[in-house]
Amino acid sequence: MVTAYIALGGNVGDVRSAFASGLRMLQEHGIAVVRISSIHQTEALVLPGSPPGPDFLNAVAEVQTDLSALELLDILLLIEQKHGRVRDKRWAPRTLDLDILLYGDEVINHPRLTIPHPAMHERLFVLIPLRELVPDYFFDPHSD
Ligand code: ATP
Ligand code: MG
Ligand code: MG
Repeated sequence: MVTAYIALGGNVGDVRSAFASGLRMLQEHGIAVVRISSIHQTEALVLPGSPPGPDFLNAVAEVQTDLSALELLDILLLIEQKHGRVRDKRWAPRTLDLDILLYGDEVINHPRLTIPHPAMHERLFVLIPLRELVPDYFFDPHSD
């Protein structure tokens, strides 16, 4: 059994319902959802030449699975598709984005999968909910 952390994000439609049904579908695929962070709301990035999209909601889920990281990715992509995700431009508005942040303590560099997620360290909307679930993952030299 591996413990993995999945980032949930979305900014189209009823995102809270998409999170709930996405987590339910994970369970239906035999992936145990152990804990969920609180949901954080952030403004969408403003990209040059396009109007700002609606605010994003983000959360992190702790899951346990016997699946390999690539099998887990395939299920996440399937669940995204079932929520009507159209893979358009990177960072385009989306109903549901499911990214693998951490998969045990594995480091994976595969053409379809990079773990730890390559941008997690620079995204507060990922780090803040992840820290709720795994405070010990973060080492703060200024805290006592
Ligand atoms: P970002 O990765 O910057 O958050 P994104 O989530 O919008 O961007 P997607 O369109 O959801 O990007 O995913 C594109 C591809 O990224 C997926 O098809 C998948 O193969 C690949 N990918 C690589 N590493 C990961 C990961 N850790 N979690 C999810 N997808 C990943
Ligand atoms: Mg993403
Ligand atoms: Mg993604």
